[in-house]
Amino acid sequence: MSSDAKVALCEAVRAFVGREHGLFVDGAICLAHSPRRSNVFDPATGNVLTTVPDADPADVDKAVASARAAFEARVWRGLRPAARERILLRFADVLEAHAEELAQLETLNQGKSINVARAIDVAATLEYVRYMAGWATKIVGETLDVSIPFPPGARYTAFTRQEPVGVVAGIVPWNFPMMIAVWKLVPALAAGCSVVIKPSPETPLTALRLAELAIDAGIGPGVFNVVTGGAECGAALAAHPGVNKISFTGSTPTGKRVGTAAVQNMTRFSLELGGKNPAVMLADIDVDQAVQGVLAGGLLNQGQVCAAVSRIYVHRSKYRKVLEGLADSANAMTMGPGLDPSAQINPLVSAHHRARVEEHLARARAEGLQFLAGGTQVDAPGYYVRPAVIADVPPDASIMRDEVFGPVLALAPFDDPAEALRLANDSPYGLAASLWTNDLRAAMSLVPQIEAGTVWVNCHVPLDPGMPFGGYKQSGIGREFGRHAIEGFTETKSVCIAY
Ligand code: NAD
Repeated sequence: MSSDAKVALCEAVRAFVGREHGLFVDGAICLAHSPRRSNVFDPATGNVLTTVPDADPADVDKAVASARAAFEARVWRGLRPAARERILLRFADVLEAHAEELAQLETLNQGKSINVARAIDVAATLEYVRYMAGWATKIVGETLDVSIPFPPGARYTAFTRQEPVGVVAGIVPWNFPMMIAVWKLVPALAAGCSVVIKPSPETPLTALRLAELAIDAGIGPGVFNVVTGGAECGAALAAHPGVNKISFTGSTPTGKRVGTAAVQNMTRFSLELGGKNPAVMLADIDVDQAVQGVLAGGLLNQGQVCAAVSRIYVHRSKYRKVLEGLADSANAMTMGPGLDPSAQINPLVSAHHRARVEEHLARARAEGLQFLAGGTQVDAPGYYVRPAVIADVPPDASIMRDEVFGPVLALAPFDDPAEALRLANDSPYGLAASLWTNDLRAAMSLVPQIEAGTVWVNCHVPLDPGMPFGGYKQSGIGREFGRHAIEGFTETKSVCIAY
């Protein structure tokens, strides 16, 4: 375990955690209709931090009604685009002023490293907010030179308008709770929508704080609401006839339930789902660089990253070296709480998720697979799992097929690029992949054949707000980021004028 030299929590975090939490509806914290409450845990200790309401369908109705009222009253969408842009930029400034508080709150509740929380959950989120703010003034339609032939002599012109889709429900997982909430919230706001965010019951705190800071930035009451709760609350949102668009991030089975519910009301939906992401290392790799790259791309946030590397295929000529490099590094990693900046592996988000990851590892052991690192239990409070490196994993082993969403790397050798491609594509998922080579011809021939929404070359996991992100196959429907995010929160209206 690490030295235990922890970052001292700032007063704002202590005060926020110590409060009685409610839902955030119509611009204020409010009591829930539901009497039930859920515990919120500190993954580093297993202690209860606080409780939040476990919202029921009546609470969801209230939050959707608040978003609907704000939308109909045009309090947000009626603003000039430049005003929306300015307020969203101010929102980024307010978040930046609270950067350390938000990073600590995320670490405390999610378990992740404070370094990751500062650099990604907060700093990258600020970049994203500022990028998306700019879209508010850049939403454009088309002008069309139409050819309608009747009545004879009539003349027409047509154009399209991109209009806000209406009330957006953002359903969010627990791995990057604030960042993924913002991935939904800010493009929806840039497009003029009103929003209800439902964070995961494991990690509701930063979404609640975000809603308060949005009010401070000038985002009016009802434009951004938060309901806390679990599956019942999420299902009520997904099936709600007052919701116009659901933007969901989470597991593939839940995503299918959300899509099925949404279609009953013709609610638009986009699904960012699970992944089982391959890294393919060709014969010419620089072993050290590739090892460091997949460690970063596989163990970031303890592997609780939808796009994390989990399957590693290495040309046989470099296989042993990569395997040993990964195993040595994984075995040398220090574990400790997220608030200890020196800890390299932090707890998983929950006892339930740790049990799920341990089940995957137990199955791999039962299948006789060889562990070069990890696979043994950690004797400490908190939800720790040692990073695992598993060698010579056959394509049909469950650890090569199932999404684990934990610190687990499974490796296998290959002999030629065609075999590597077959192995990489041999998955129901298709979120992301990486290719490790400096052979430009090989890279350019493989990239189009890899079935994944993102293919990185000589890196794995960097995202940019402008780079479309989403999955092939069972990894989802739709794309977030860039103009795709904005398109997902607008309807296209054709206008045809006879003159
Ligand atoms: P999950 O599917 O269990 O839950 C996601 C969200 O859906 C939570 O807020 C949950 O409360 C809610 N929910 C649960 N049941 C619901 C229902 N019936 N209807 C509506 N909402 C419901 O996922 P998780 O365990 O929170 O997150 C891990 C999963 O998320 C992994 O599969 C991971 O790959 C995926 N993920 C994907 C991306 C991406 O961008 N593709 C990003 C992060 C995480």
